[in-house]
Amino acid sequence: MARFEFSNTRSPRIVVIGGGFAGLSAAAELARAGASVTLLEKNEAVGGRARVWQHEGFRWDMGPSWYWMPDVFDDFFAGFGHSTADFYTLERLDPSYRVCFGPDDAIDLPAGIEPLVDLFESIERGAGTRLRSFLADAAYKYRHGMGDFVHKPALSLREYLDPRLLWSLVRLQMLQSFRAHVRRHFTHDHLRQIVEFPVLFLGATAARTPALFSLMNHADMALGTWYPQGGMGSVVDGLRRLAESQGAEIRTRAEVERIEVRSGRVSGVVTRSGERFDADVVVANADYHHVEQHLLAPEYRQYGREFWKRRTLSPSSLLFYVGVEGRVEGLRHHTLFFDEPIDLHAEAIYESPRWPERPLFYVSAPSRTDPTVAPTGCENLCLLVPLAPDLDDADEIRERTWDLITDRLEQRTGQSIRDRIVVRRSYAHREFREDYHALGGNAYGLANTLRQTALLRPRLRSRKVGGLYFAGQLTVPGPGVPPALISGQVAARQIMADW
Ligand SMILES: Cc1cc2nc3c(=O)[nH]c(=O)nc-3n(C[C@H](O)[C@H](O)[C@H](O)COP(=O)(O)OP(=O)(O)OC[C@H]3O[C@@H](n4cnc5c(N)ncnc54)[C@H](O)[C@@H]3O)c2cc1C
Repeated sequence: MARFEFSNTRSPRIVVIGGGFAGLSAAAELARAGASVTLLEKNEAVGGRARVWQHEGFRWDMGPSWYWMPDVFDDFFAGFGHSTADFYTLERLDPSYRVCFGPDDAIDLPAGIEPLVDLFESIERGAGTRLRSFLADAAYKYRHGMGDFVHKPALSLREYLDPRLLWSLVRLQMLQSFRAHVRRHFTHDHLRQIVEFPVLFLGATAARTPALFSLMNHADMALGTWYPQGGMGSVVDGLRRLAESQGAEIRTRAEVERIEVRSGRVSGVVTRSGERFDADVVVANADYHHVEQHLLAPEYRQYGREFWKRRTLSPSSLLFYVGVEGRVEGLRHHTLFFDEPIDLHAEAIYESPRWPERPLFYVSAPSRTDPTVAPTGCENLCLLVPLAPDLDDADEIRERTWDLITDRLEQRTGQSIRDRIVVRRSYAHREFREDYHALGGNAYGLANTLRQTALLRPRLRSRKVGGLYFAGQLTVPGPGVPPALISGQVAARQIMADW
Protein backbone atom coordinates (compact mmCIF):
# COMPACT_ATOMS: atom_id res chain seq x y z
CA MET A 1 0.00 0.00 0.00
CA ALA A 2 1.41 3.42 -0.99
CA ARG A 3 2.50 5.61 1.90
CA PHE A 4 0.77 9.00 1.90
CA GLU A 5 1.87 12.17 3.56
CA PHE A 6 0.76 15.78 3.62
CA SER A 7 2.81 17.59 1.03
CA ASN A 8 1.72 21.18 1.71
CA THR A 9 3.89 23.29 3.93
CA ARG A 10 1.16 23.63 6.56
CA SER A 11 -0.37 20.34 7.67
CA PRO A 12 -4.02 20.49 8.67
CA ARG A 13 -5.68 20.55 12.06
CA ILE A 14 -8.05 17.63 12.00
CA VAL A 15 -10.88 16.74 14.36
CA VAL A 16 -12.17 13.18 14.30
CA ILE A 17 -15.68 12.81 15.74
CA GLY A 18 -16.04 9.38 17.30
CA GLY A 19 -13.59 6.75 18.53
CA GLY A 20 -14.93 3.61 16.83
CA PHE A 21 -12.60 1.47 14.73
CA ALA A 22 -12.96 3.81 11.75
CA GLY A 23 -12.23 6.93 13.82
CA LEU A 24 -9.19 5.37 15.48
CA SER A 25 -7.87 4.11 12.17
CA ALA A 26 -8.30 7.52 10.50
CA ALA A 27 -6.70 9.28 13.49
CA ALA A 28 -3.66 7.00 13.43
CA GLU A 29 -3.17 7.40 9.65
CA LEU A 30 -3.61 11.17 9.68
CA ALA A 31 -1.33 11.70 12.68
CA ARG A 32 1.34 9.52 11.08
CA ALA A 33 1.18 11.69 7.98
CA GLY A 34 1.88 14.80 10.03
CA ALA A 35 -1.56 16.29 10.75
CA SER A 36 -2.45 17.63 14.14
CA VAL A 37 -5.26 15.27 15.16
CA THR A 38 -7.76 15.48 18.01
CA LEU A 39 -10.28 12.67 18.38
CA LEU A 40 -13.44 13.49 20.35
CA GLU A 41 -15.50 10.58 21.69
CA LYS A 42 -18.79 11.05 23.50
CA ASN A 43 -18.59 7.92 25.69
CA GLU A 44 -16.22 7.34 28.59
CA ALA A 45 -14.09 4.96 26.51
CA VAL A 46 -13.19 4.55 22.84
CA GLY A 47 -14.20 1.49 20.81
CA GLY A 48 -17.71 2.51 19.80
CA ARG A 49 -19.82 -0.56 19.11
CA ALA A 50 -16.79 -2.60 20.22
CA ARG A 51 -16.62 -1.20 23.76
CA VAL A 52 -16.09 -3.37 26.83
CA TRP A 53 -18.34 -3.71 29.90
CA GLN A 54 -16.84 -4.95 33.18
CA HIS A 55 -18.86 -6.04 36.19
CA GLU A 56 -18.34 -8.41 39.15
CA GLY A 57 -15.10 -9.78 37.74
CA PHE A 58 -16.55 -10.44 34.26
CA ARG A 59 -15.50 -8.57 31.11
CA TRP A 60 -17.79 -8.54 28.08
CA ASP A 61 -17.10 -7.37 24.56
CA MET A 62 -20.30 -5.41 24.06
CA GLY A 63 -20.39 -5.78 20.27
CA PRO A 64 -18.15 -7.69 17.86
CA SER A 65 -16.82 -11.07 18.90
CA TRP A 66 -15.79 -12.65 15.56
CA TYR A 67 -12.27 -11.71 14.51
CA TRP A 68 -12.22 -12.35 10.77
CA MET A 69 -9.87 -11.27 7.95
CA PRO A 70 -6.68 -11.19 10.05
CA ASP A 71 -4.81 -9.98 6.94
CA VAL A 72 -6.66 -6.65 7.10
CA PHE A 73 -5.40 -6.01 10.64
CA ASP A 74 -1.90 -7.26 9.75
CA ASP A 75 -1.72 -4.91 6.73
CA PHE A 76 -3.00 -2.05 8.84
CA PHE A 77 -0.35 -2.43 11.55
CA ALA A 78 2.36 -3.14 8.92
CA GLY A 79 1.64 0.31 7.46
CA PHE A 80 3.06 1.69 10.73
CA GLY A 81 6.06 -0.64 10.77
CA HIS A 82 4.40 -2.90 13.36
CA SER A 83 3.03 -6.40 13.49
CA THR A 84 -0.32 -7.30 15.03
CA ALA A 85 1.58 -9.25 17.69
CA ASP A 86 3.02 -5.94 18.95
CA PHE A 87 -0.47 -5.16 20.26
CA TYR A 88 -2.27 -8.42 21.02
CA THR A 89 -2.00 -12.19 20.71
CA LEU A 90 -4.20 -14.11 18.31
CA GLU A 91 -5.37 -17.68 18.56
CA ARG A 92 -7.11 -19.56 15.75
CA LEU A 93 -10.27 -21.28 16.98
CA ASP A 94 -10.79 -24.93 16.12
CA PRO A 95 -13.63 -25.67 15.65
CA SER A 96 -14.29 -22.24 14.24
CA TYR A 97 -17.86 -22.40 15.55
CA ARG A 98 -20.81 -24.71 16.18
CA VAL A 99 -24.18 -24.56 14.47
CA CYS A 100 -27.08 -26.10 16.35
CA PHE A 101 -29.93 -27.11 14.03
CA GLY A 102 -32.18 -28.83 16.59
CA PRO A 103 -32.21 -31.39 19.39
CA ASP A 104 -29.10 -33.57 19.05
CA ASP A 105 -28.36 -32.00 15.70
CA ALA A 106 -25.29 -29.78 15.79
CA ILE A 107 -22.32 -29.39 13.47
CA ASP A 108 -18.86 -28.16 14.45
CA LEU A 109 -17.09 -26.35 11.62
CA PRO A 110 -13.44 -27.44 11.73
CA ALA A 111 -10.59 -25.04 11.00
CA GLY A 112 -8.97 -25.77 7.62
CA ILE A 113 -10.27 -26.52 4.16
CA GLU A 114 -9.53 -30.27 4.02
CA PRO A 115 -11.60 -31.20 7.10
CA LEU A 116 -14.36 -28.90 5.83
CA VAL A 117 -14.39 -30.67 2.47
CA ASP A 118 -14.71 -34.01 4.30
CA LEU A 119 -17.51 -32.63 6.46
CA PHE A 120 -19.47 -31.34 3.45
CA GLU A 121 -18.98 -34.63 1.62
CA SER A 122 -20.28 -36.58 4.64
CA ILE A 123 -23.49 -34.53 4.59
CA GLU A 124 -24.14 -34.39 0.84
CA ARG A 125 -22.49 -36.52 -1.85
CA GLY A 126 -20.38 -34.36 -4.16
CA ALA A 127 -20.65 -31.31 -1.88
CA GLY A 128 -17.00 -31.63 -0.87
CA THR A 129 -15.80 -31.19 -4.46
CA ARG A 130 -18.29 -28.39 -5.02
CA LEU A 131 -17.06 -26.67 -1.86
CA ARG A 132 -13.57 -26.62 -3.35
CA SER A 133 -14.72 -24.84 -6.50
CA PHE A 134 -17.02 -22.55 -4.49
CA LEU A 135 -14.06 -21.56 -2.31
CA ALA A 136 -11.71 -21.10 -5.29
CA ASP A 137 -14.20 -18.58 -6.68
CA ALA A 138 -14.57 -16.99 -3.21
CA ALA A 139 -10.77 -16.65 -2.99
CA TYR A 140 -10.72 -14.85 -6.36
CA LYS A 141 -13.45 -12.49 -5.15
CA TYR A 142 -11.65 -11.86 -1.88
CA ARG A 143 -8.41 -11.03 -3.70
CA HIS A 144 -10.00 -8.70 -6.24
CA GLY A 145 -12.92 -7.44 -4.16
CA MET A 146 -10.65 -6.53 -1.27
CA GLY A 147 -7.73 -5.50 -3.48
CA ASP A 148 -9.44 -3.48 -6.21
CA PHE A 149 -12.74 -2.29 -4.78
CA VAL A 150 -12.82 -2.07 -1.01
CA HIS A 151 -10.07 0.54 -0.81
CA LYS A 152 -11.79 2.89 -3.26
CA PRO A 153 -13.39 6.08 -1.96
CA ALA A 154 -16.30 5.43 -4.38
CA LEU A 155 -16.69 9.13 -5.19
CA SER A 156 -16.95 8.80 -8.94
CA LEU A 157 -17.82 6.23 -11.58
CA ARG A 158 -14.45 7.04 -13.18
CA GLU A 159 -12.73 5.03 -10.45
CA TYR A 160 -14.27 1.92 -11.99
CA LEU A 161 -13.72 2.67 -15.69
CA ASP A 162 -10.66 0.53 -16.06
CA PRO A 163 -11.15 -2.44 -18.45
CA ARG A 164 -9.48 -4.78 -15.96
CA LEU A 165 -11.85 -3.64 -13.21
CA LEU A 166 -14.86 -3.82 -15.49
CA TRP A 167 -13.98 -7.40 -16.34
CA SER A 168 -13.59 -8.27 -12.68
CA LEU A 169 -16.97 -6.64 -11.99
CA VAL A 170 -18.48 -9.31 -14.20
CA ARG A 171 -16.47 -12.09 -12.61
CA LEU A 172 -17.20 -10.78 -9.15
CA GLN A 173 -20.92 -11.20 -9.76
CA MET A 174 -21.76 -7.77 -8.43
CA LEU A 175 -25.29 -8.02 -9.82
CA GLN A 176 -26.22 -11.59 -8.99
CA SER A 177 -27.74 -12.70 -5.73
CA PHE A 178 -25.64 -14.55 -3.19
CA ARG A 179 -28.50 -16.93 -2.41
CA ALA A 180 -28.83 -18.07 -6.04
CA HIS A 181 -25.07 -18.59 -6.13
CA VAL A 182 -25.14 -20.78 -3.00
CA ARG A 183 -28.16 -22.77 -4.20
CA ARG A 184 -26.38 -23.68 -7.41
CA HIS A 185 -23.69 -25.41 -5.34
CA PHE A 186 -25.43 -27.05 -2.38
CA THR A 187 -28.76 -28.78 -1.82
CA HIS A 188 -28.75 -29.86 1.82
CA ASP A 189 -30.44 -27.29 4.04
CA HIS A 190 -27.75 -27.43 6.72
CA LEU A 191 -25.00 -26.76 4.18
CA ARG A 192 -26.93 -23.90 2.61
CA GLN A 193 -27.41 -22.30 6.00
CA ILE A 194 -23.75 -22.72 6.92
CA VAL A 195 -22.62 -21.15 3.66
CA GLU A 196 -25.18 -18.34 3.82
CA PHE A 197 -24.44 -17.46 7.44
CA PRO A 198 -21.42 -15.12 6.93
CA VAL A 199 -23.41 -12.57 4.92
CA LEU A 200 -25.53 -11.90 8.01
CA PHE A 201 -22.55 -9.74 9.02
CA LEU A 202 -23.36 -7.47 6.08
CA GLY A 203 -26.76 -6.71 7.48
CA ALA A 204 -28.99 -8.16 4.77
CA THR A 205 -30.45 -11.49 3.66
CA ALA A 206 -28.57 -13.73 1.26
CA ALA A 207 -31.22 -13.04 -1.39
CA ARG A 208 -30.51 -9.29 -1.34
CA THR A 209 -26.74 -9.49 -1.09
CA PRO A 210 -24.55 -9.52 -4.22
CA ALA A 211 -22.83 -12.83 -5.00
CA LEU A 212 -19.58 -10.85 -4.73
CA PHE A 213 -19.87 -11.39 -1.00
CA SER A 214 -19.13 -15.09 -1.18
CA LEU A 215 -15.72 -13.54 -0.47
CA MET A 216 -16.97 -13.76 3.12
CA ASN A 217 -16.86 -17.56 2.81
CA HIS A 218 -13.18 -17.30 1.96
CA ALA A 219 -12.79 -15.20 5.12
CA ASP A 220 -14.73 -17.76 7.15
CA MET A 221 -13.41 -21.05 5.82
CA ALA A 222 -9.95 -20.31 4.41
CA LEU A 223 -8.71 -17.44 6.58
CA GLY A 224 -10.42 -18.70 9.73
CA THR A 225 -11.99 -17.47 12.95
CA TRP A 226 -9.50 -16.01 15.41
CA TYR A 227 -9.63 -14.78 18.96
CA PRO A 228 -7.55 -11.86 20.24
CA GLN A 229 -6.55 -12.72 23.82
CA GLY A 230 -8.37 -10.37 26.17
CA GLY A 231 -11.18 -10.06 23.62
CA MET A 232 -12.02 -7.43 21.00
CA GLY A 233 -11.28 -4.85 23.67
CA SER A 234 -7.57 -5.59 23.24
CA VAL A 235 -7.83 -4.76 19.54
CA VAL A 236 -9.46 -1.43 20.41
CA ASP A 237 -6.77 -0.82 22.99
CA GLY A 238 -4.08 -1.63 20.42
CA LEU A 239 -5.53 0.89 17.99
CA ARG A 240 -5.81 3.55 20.67
CA ARG A 241 -2.17 3.07 21.68
CA LEU A 242 -1.07 3.16 18.05
CA ALA A 243 -3.01 6.38 17.32
CA GLU A 244 -1.57 8.02 20.44
CA SER A 245 1.94 6.88 19.58
CA GLN A 246 1.56 8.69 16.24
CA GLY A 247 0.67 11.89 18.08
CA ALA A 248 -3.15 11.87 17.97
CA GLU A 249 -4.81 13.34 21.05
CA ILE A 250 -7.81 11.32 22.24
CA ARG A 251 -10.47 12.91 24.41
CA THR A 252 -13.33 10.86 25.85
CA ARG A 253 -16.57 12.21 27.40
CA ALA A 254 -16.38 14.84 24.67
CA GLU A 255 -19.61 14.80 22.71
CA VAL A 256 -19.65 17.03 19.64
CA GLU A 257 -22.80 19.11 19.41
CA ARG A 258 -22.11 21.22 16.34
CA ILE A 259 -19.87 21.36 13.29
CA GLU A 260 -19.12 24.94 12.32
CA VAL A 261 -18.97 25.92 8.66
CA ARG A 262 -17.48 29.14 7.31
CA SER A 263 -17.56 30.07 3.61
CA GLY A 264 -18.59 26.54 2.70
CA ARG A 265 -15.76 24.83 4.63
CA VAL A 266 -15.54 23.32 8.09
CA SER A 267 -13.93 25.67 10.56
CA GLY A 268 -14.33 23.87 13.86
CA VAL A 269 -16.51 21.83 16.17
CA VAL A 270 -18.17 22.62 19.49
CA THR A 271 -18.75 20.05 22.20
CA ARG A 272 -21.68 19.78 24.62
CA SER A 273 -19.59 21.33 27.36
CA GLY A 274 -19.06 24.36 25.10
CA GLU A 275 -15.43 23.71 24.25
CA ARG A 276 -14.46 24.75 20.74
CA PHE A 277 -11.85 23.07 18.52
CA ASP A 278 -10.52 24.72 15.36
CA ALA A 279 -10.47 22.39 12.39
CA ASP A 280 -9.39 22.55 8.75
CA VAL A 281 -10.78 19.08 8.26
CA VAL A 282 -13.37 17.03 10.14
CA VAL A 283 -13.67 13.25 9.92
CA ALA A 284 -17.09 12.14 11.12
CA ASN A 285 -16.97 8.58 12.40
CA ALA A 286 -20.17 9.04 14.42
CA ASP A 287 -23.25 7.63 12.67
CA TYR A 288 -23.73 9.43 9.34
CA HIS A 289 -27.37 10.28 9.88
CA HIS A 290 -26.66 11.80 13.30
CA VAL A 291 -23.82 13.93 11.94
CA GLU A 292 -25.82 15.33 9.03
CA GLN A 293 -29.16 15.76 10.79
CA HIS A 294 -27.97 16.92 14.18
CA LEU A 295 -24.49 18.41 13.95
CA LEU A 296 -24.89 20.39 10.72
CA ALA A 297 -27.20 23.27 9.83
CA PRO A 298 -29.95 22.18 7.35
CA GLU A 299 -28.37 23.87 4.31
CA TYR A 300 -25.25 21.71 4.68
CA ARG A 301 -27.00 18.32 4.68
CA GLN A 302 -26.66 16.14 1.59
CA TYR A 303 -29.34 13.63 2.51
CA GLY A 304 -32.81 14.49 3.77
CA ARG A 305 -35.28 12.55 5.89
CA GLU A 306 -36.75 10.82 2.85
CA PHE A 307 -33.35 9.49 1.87
CA TRP A 308 -32.83 7.87 5.26
CA LYS A 309 -36.37 6.48 5.31
CA ARG A 310 -35.69 4.65 2.05
CA ARG A 311 -32.40 3.10 3.19
CA THR A 312 -32.12 -0.49 4.36
CA LEU A 313 -30.55 -0.18 7.77
CA SER A 314 -28.67 -3.15 9.13
CA PRO A 315 -30.46 -4.97 11.91
CA SER A 316 -30.44 -3.96 15.53
CA SER A 317 -29.91 -6.61 18.21
CA LEU A 318 -31.12 -7.65 21.60
CA LEU A 319 -28.07 -8.57 23.63
CA PHE A 320 -27.77 -10.19 27.03
CA TYR A 321 -24.45 -10.01 28.85
CA VAL A 322 -24.64 -12.93 31.24
CA GLY A 323 -22.32 -14.22 33.96
CA VAL A 324 -22.94 -17.83 34.98
CA GLU A 325 -21.53 -19.83 37.87
CA GLY A 326 -19.95 -23.11 36.71
CA ARG A 327 -19.52 -24.32 33.13
CA VAL A 328 -22.15 -24.37 30.44
CA GLU A 329 -21.55 -27.61 28.55
CA GLY A 330 -22.50 -28.02 24.90
CA LEU A 331 -21.31 -24.60 23.83
CA ARG A 332 -18.28 -23.70 21.75
CA HIS A 333 -16.61 -20.30 21.80
CA HIS A 334 -19.16 -19.34 19.11
CA THR A 335 -22.47 -21.21 18.83
CA LEU A 336 -25.23 -20.34 16.38
CA PHE A 337 -28.73 -21.53 17.19
CA PHE A 338 -30.34 -22.08 13.80
CA ASP A 339 -32.92 -24.42 15.27
CA GLU A 340 -35.94 -22.44 14.08
CA PRO A 341 -36.83 -21.50 10.47
CA ILE A 342 -34.32 -18.86 9.36
CA ASP A 343 -36.66 -17.35 6.74
CA LEU A 344 -39.34 -16.65 9.35
CA HIS A 345 -36.88 -14.72 11.49
CA ALA A 346 -35.50 -12.92 8.41
CA GLU A 347 -39.04 -11.90 7.48
CA ALA A 348 -39.49 -10.36 10.93
CA ILE A 349 -36.32 -8.32 10.37
CA TYR A 350 -36.65 -7.28 6.74
CA GLU A 351 -40.17 -7.76 5.38
CA SER A 352 -42.66 -7.00 8.15
CA PRO A 353 -40.62 -5.65 11.06
CA ARG A 354 -41.67 -7.13 14.40
CA TRP A 355 -40.26 -9.13 17.28
CA PRO A 356 -39.66 -12.67 15.97
CA GLU A 357 -42.02 -15.26 17.43
CA ARG A 358 -39.36 -18.00 17.10
CA PRO A 359 -36.03 -16.18 17.24
CA LEU A 360 -32.72 -17.53 16.07
CA PHE A 361 -29.85 -16.49 18.30
CA TYR A 362 -26.10 -16.61 18.78
CA VAL A 363 -24.10 -17.28 21.94
CA SER A 364 -20.55 -16.17 22.46
CA ALA A 365 -18.69 -17.92 25.29
CA PRO A 366 -15.17 -16.45 25.27
CA SER A 367 -14.41 -17.92 28.71
CA ARG A 368 -13.98 -21.23 26.79
CA THR A 369 -10.77 -19.78 25.33
CA ASP A 370 -9.78 -16.99 27.68
CA PRO A 371 -9.86 -17.39 31.48
CA THR A 372 -9.38 -13.66 32.04
CA VAL A 373 -12.92 -12.71 30.95
CA ALA A 374 -14.69 -14.40 33.89
CA PRO A 375 -13.94 -15.20 37.53
CA THR A 376 -12.49 -18.68 38.11
CA GLY A 377 -15.05 -21.41 37.50
CA CYS A 378 -17.52 -19.06 35.82
CA GLU A 379 -18.72 -18.68 32.25
CA ASN A 380 -18.95 -15.39 30.36
CA LEU A 381 -21.82 -15.46 27.87
CA CYS A 382 -23.22 -12.96 25.42
CA LEU A 383 -26.53 -13.88 23.80
CA LEU A 384 -27.51 -12.01 20.65
CA VAL A 385 -30.84 -11.94 18.79
CA PRO A 386 -30.80 -9.92 15.53
CA LEU A 387 -33.85 -7.66 15.24
CA ALA A 388 -35.41 -5.15 12.89
CA PRO A 389 -34.35 -1.59 13.67
CA ASP A 390 -36.89 0.85 15.08
CA LEU A 391 -38.89 -1.62 17.19
CA ASP A 392 -40.36 -0.80 20.58
CA ASP A 393 -37.91 -2.53 22.90
CA ALA A 394 -39.77 -2.28 26.21
CA ASP A 395 -38.54 -4.42 29.10
CA GLU A 396 -41.52 -6.75 28.78
CA ILE A 397 -40.72 -7.87 25.25
CA ARG A 398 -37.04 -8.19 26.11
CA GLU A 399 -38.01 -10.53 28.96
CA ARG A 400 -40.34 -12.56 26.76
CA THR A 401 -37.52 -13.02 24.24
CA TRP A 402 -35.09 -13.89 27.03
CA ASP A 403 -37.45 -16.65 28.15
CA LEU A 404 -37.77 -18.02 24.62
CA ILE A 405 -34.05 -18.23 23.99
CA THR A 406 -33.07 -19.40 27.48
CA ASP A 407 -35.61 -22.22 27.31
CA ARG A 408 -34.03 -23.35 24.06
CA LEU A 409 -30.48 -22.90 25.34
CA GLU A 410 -31.31 -25.05 28.37
CA GLN A 411 -33.04 -27.71 26.27
CA ARG A 412 -30.31 -27.92 23.64
CA THR A 413 -27.47 -28.04 26.16
CA GLY A 414 -29.40 -30.27 28.59
CA GLN A 415 -28.76 -28.23 31.74
CA SER A 416 -30.25 -25.44 33.76
CA ILE A 417 -28.66 -22.02 33.45
CA ARG A 418 -31.18 -19.59 34.95
CA ASP A 419 -30.52 -20.65 38.54
CA ARG A 420 -26.77 -20.09 38.13
CA ILE A 421 -26.84 -16.56 36.76
CA VAL A 422 -24.88 -14.01 38.77
CA VAL A 423 -24.97 -11.06 36.36
CA ARG A 424 -27.37 -10.24 33.57
CA ARG A 425 -27.78 -7.04 31.59
CA SER A 426 -29.86 -6.46 28.48
CA TYR A 427 -29.01 -4.05 25.67
CA ALA A 428 -31.12 -3.16 22.60
CA HIS A 429 -32.47 -0.31 20.48
CA ARG A 430 -32.73 2.33 23.15
CA GLU A 431 -29.14 1.79 24.32
CA PHE A 432 -27.88 1.87 20.71
CA ARG A 433 -29.66 5.20 20.33
CA GLU A 434 -28.46 6.65 23.62
CA ASP A 435 -24.89 5.38 23.41
CA TYR A 436 -24.17 5.91 19.69
CA HIS A 437 -26.96 8.12 18.30
CA ALA A 438 -27.82 5.17 16.09
CA LEU A 439 -30.69 5.75 13.66
CA GLY A 440 -33.51 3.36 14.58
CA GLY A 441 -31.19 1.85 17.18
CA ASN A 442 -29.28 0.00 14.43
CA ALA A 443 -26.37 -2.17 15.48
CA TYR A 444 -24.34 -2.51 12.28
CA GLY A 445 -25.02 0.67 10.29
CA LEU A 446 -26.21 0.45 6.72
CA ALA A 447 -26.64 -2.93 5.04
CA ASN A 448 -24.50 -3.93 2.03
CA THR A 449 -27.48 -4.71 -0.24
CA LEU A 450 -27.36 -4.67 -4.05
CA ARG A 451 -28.50 -1.04 -3.97
CA GLN A 452 -26.26 0.06 -1.13
CA THR A 453 -22.82 -0.99 -2.24
CA ALA A 454 -19.83 1.17 -3.35
CA LEU A 455 -21.02 4.31 -5.24
CA LEU A 456 -24.53 3.77 -3.92
CA ARG A 457 -23.58 4.26 -0.26
CA PRO A 458 -23.61 7.66 1.51
CA ARG A 459 -20.56 9.52 0.30
CA LEU A 460 -17.25 9.48 2.09
CA ARG A 461 -16.64 13.17 1.21
CA SER A 462 -19.39 15.75 1.68
CA ARG A 463 -20.66 17.39 -1.48
CA LYS A 464 -21.83 20.43 0.46
CA VAL A 465 -19.14 21.19 2.99
CA GLY A 466 -15.46 21.44 2.10
CA GLY A 467 -13.17 19.54 4.46
CA LEU A 468 -15.90 17.26 5.81
CA TYR A 469 -15.34 13.52 5.43
CA PHE A 470 -17.13 10.47 6.76
CA ALA A 471 -15.73 7.15 7.92
CA GLY A 472 -17.41 4.09 9.39
CA GLN A 473 -20.05 1.50 8.84
CA LEU A 474 -22.62 3.81 7.18
CA THR A 475 -20.32 4.87 4.34
CA VAL A 476 -17.88 2.83 2.21
CA PRO A 477 -17.06 0.01 2.28
CA GLY A 478 -19.66 -1.16 4.85
CA PRO A 479 -20.36 -2.81 8.21
CA GLY A 480 -17.96 -5.00 10.21
CA VAL A 481 -14.70 -4.36 12.03
CA PRO A 482 -12.32 -4.93 9.06
CA PRO A 483 -14.39 -2.65 6.75
CA ALA A 484 -14.54 0.01 9.50
CA LEU A 485 -10.76 -0.12 9.81
CA ILE A 486 -10.43 0.21 6.02
CA SER A 487 -13.00 3.02 5.93
CA GLY A 488 -10.81 5.11 8.26
CA GLN A 489 -7.80 4.46 6.02
CA VAL A 490 -9.68 5.34 2.84
CA ALA A 491 -11.00 8.59 4.35
CA ALA A 492 -7.51 9.51 5.60
CA ARG A 493 -5.96 8.89 2.18
CA GLN A 494 -8.64 10.91 0.45
CA ILE A 495 -7.99 13.81 2.84
CA MET A 496 -4.26 13.66 2.12
CA ALA A 497 -4.90 13.54 -1.62
CA ASP A 498 -7.28 16.53 -1.42
CA TRP A 499 -5.22 18.70 0.93
C1 LIG B 1 -23.71 -6.46 18.75
C2 LIG B 1 -22.75 -6.32 17.61
C3 LIG B 1 -22.03 -7.42 17.17
C4 LIG B 1 -21.13 -7.29 16.12
N1 LIG B 1 -20.39 -8.38 15.75
C5 LIG B 1 -19.38 -8.23 14.85
C6 LIG B 1 -18.42 -9.25 14.69
O1 LIG B 1 -18.48 -10.28 15.35
N2 LIG B 1 -17.40 -9.04 13.80
C7 LIG B 1 -17.30 -7.87 13.08
O2 LIG B 1 -16.35 -7.72 12.28
N3 LIG B 1 -18.19 -6.86 13.25
C8 LIG B 1 -19.21 -7.00 14.13
N4 LIG B 1 -20.06 -5.96 14.40
C9 LIG B 1 -19.95 -4.74 13.60
C10 LIG B 1 -18.81 -3.86 14.05
O3 LIG B 1 -18.76 -3.82 15.45
C11 LIG B 1 -19.01 -2.45 13.52
O4 LIG B 1 -19.21 -2.50 12.12
C12 LIG B 1 -17.83 -1.52 13.80
O5 LIG B 1 -17.38 -1.67 15.13
C13 LIG B 1 -18.28 -0.11 13.50
O6 LIG B 1 -17.26 0.79 13.74
P1 LIG B 1 -17.44 2.32 13.34
O7 LIG B 1 -16.16 2.96 13.63
O8 LIG B 1 -17.99 2.42 11.98
O9 LIG B 1 -18.63 2.88 14.29
P2 LIG B 1 -18.84 2.95 15.87
O10 LIG B 1 -18.17 1.83 16.53
O11 LIG B 1 -20.27 3.10 16.11
O12 LIG B 1 -18.11 4.30 16.29
C14 LIG B 1 -18.73 5.55 16.23
C15 LIG B 1 -18.34 6.35 17.46
O13 LIG B 1 -18.86 7.68 17.38
C16 LIG B 1 -19.22 8.08 18.69
N5 LIG B 1 -20.13 9.22 18.60
C17 LIG B 1 -21.42 9.24 18.18
N6 LIG B 1 -21.91 10.49 18.21
C18 LIG B 1 -20.91 11.29 18.67
C19 LIG B 1 -20.81 12.69 18.92
N7 LIG B 1 -21.82 13.53 18.68
N8 LIG B 1 -19.65 13.18 19.42
C20 LIG B 1 -18.59 12.35 19.65
N9 LIG B 1 -18.64 11.02 19.43
C21 LIG B 1 -19.79 10.49 18.93
C22 LIG B 1 -19.86 6.83 19.26
O14 LIG B 1 -19.94 6.89 20.66
C23 LIG B 1 -18.90 5.76 18.76
O15 LIG B 1 -17.85 5.55 19.65
C24 LIG B 1 -20.95 -6.04 15.47
C25 LIG B 1 -21.68 -4.93 15.91
C26 LIG B 1 -22.55 -5.06 16.99
C27 LIG B 1 -23.27 -3.85 17.49
